[in-house]
Amino acid sequence: MTEVLSPKTTVNPAPKVGFISLGCPKALTDSELILTQLSAEGYQTSKTFQGADLVIVNTCGFIDDAVKESLDTIGEALAENGRVIVTGCLGAKSSDDGGNLVRKMHPSVLAVTGPQATQQVMDAVHLNLPKPHDPFIDLVPNSFGVAGIKLTPRHFAYLKISEGCNHRCTFCIIPSMRGDLVSRPIGDVLTEARALFEGGVKELLVISQDTSAYGVDVKYRTGFWDGKPVKTRMLELVQALGDVAESYGAWVRLHYVYPYPTVDGILPLMATGKILPYLDVPLQHSHPEVLRRMKRPASGEKNLERILQWREACPELVVRSTFIAGFPGETEEEFAHLLDFVREAQIDRAGCFAYSPVQGAQANELPGMLPLEVREERRARFMAVAEEVSVAKLQRRVGSTMQILVDSAPGMGKKGGIGRSYADAPEIDGVVRLLPPEKISKTLKVGEFTKARIVSAQGHDLVALPF
Ligand code: SF4
Repeated sequence: MTEVLSPKTTVNPAPKVGFISLGCPKALTDSELILTQLSAEGYQTSKTFQGADLVIVNTCGFIDDAVKESLDTIGEALAENGRVIVTGCLGAKSSDDGGNLVRKMHPSVLAVTGPQATQQVMDAVHLNLPKPHDPFIDLVPNSFGVAGIKLTPRHFAYLKISEGCNHRCTFCIIPSMRGDLVSRPIGDVLTEARALFEGGVKELLVISQDTSAYGVDVKYRTGFWDGKPVKTRMLELVQALGDVAESYGAWVRLHYVYPYPTVDGILPLMATGKILPYLDVPLQHSHPEVLRRMKRPASGEKNLERILQWREACPELVVRSTFIAGFPGETEEEFAHLLDFVREAQIDRAGCFAYSPVQGAQANELPGMLPLEVREERRARFMAVAEEVSVAKLQRRVGSTMQILVDSAPGMGKKGGIGRSYADAPEIDGVVRLLPPEKISKTLKVGEFTKARIVSAQGHDLVALPF
């Protein structure tokens, strides 16, 4: 008798990958792309090191503290799991002897890649943890670059429009890790934006290293979207994003915009509500000599005049910025210029670092390194002035009505919740603390908007009554 062999299905458990994502929103979007690809190929994720077949660590290498955190995390993953792939900015960093820093510190890692290297990471994963074969999973379309796995809450998302940077600021090593500016095709960016809105995103945060430079590398080439020609340039991108967002009732917020004259063109879009009247402009300093030593983009521009003009064009404008106190050679007079600038430009939200040397940065060679106490003391003085400005501006909002995007609302908001207005970017600015609504029928839902009356200001936050 002939035995008939029926096809047998053996179900192997899907291989599991642990994932740690460190660093800035740009690194987070790299993590999202890798996780999307892993998921599309049938890999599962593990919440613990022990439960994973291998671990990917997406690192940050921007400042020395971030380097330490990344190296410690790799060490922890190696101790608890043993099979580790490293990606991200730290992966592109050299050690003193010119070799790879990660490999030198942790020679047993399976592979090391730089940032924005989804394919190389996937190659390393395939090599060390073969791709599961599943006839169903293999049919899942590759959602890479459209709207895949997000690591942010469902209602907001980062949209990365370019990688790398053409500038060479003397305190920064990002271009040596991420390379020169490469703009994503405008059609891809807009397609991803629409997919994110379709997926429930109510706030889109546009990020890059230099948003105002979008398209410079491709000479503002004309791309296509929705069957229409559209230039690869910030103004056209922002207009189109505003149009798409409008149809979903969503917000668009711009980060990392340098004060070039071309930015003036987007202020009318803010004034008419197409995009949020919020600009994250990393100025770092105000004194022309310090900016020159920093080799900052737009250092020759008259930043104070420009910001005042922006405020005339759009009185609601909120400006967030970051600064460095105690840059090498900074005189007391140059520092005083910075304090005056923050007061006159009425910077709504300011962050400040005391200068700290970053390994491999050109600024380390500059004369006039200031003692740590002076750098720290200037940072503290800066923050005192910045807070004064910020708190006074928040106080002026008391009594007004604002549109709030709800981030958290336990029990449908019966006991209140937490949200943000157009003036607050997630994680870096303040929040709006929502009181329990007076009307019994009123509920608050995460990812939805509510109107609220501002009743008080508390530090960097506002307190509001939803209605
Ligand atoms: S603009 Fe300057 S600080 Fe920003 S990424 Fe480029 S080099 Fe670094």
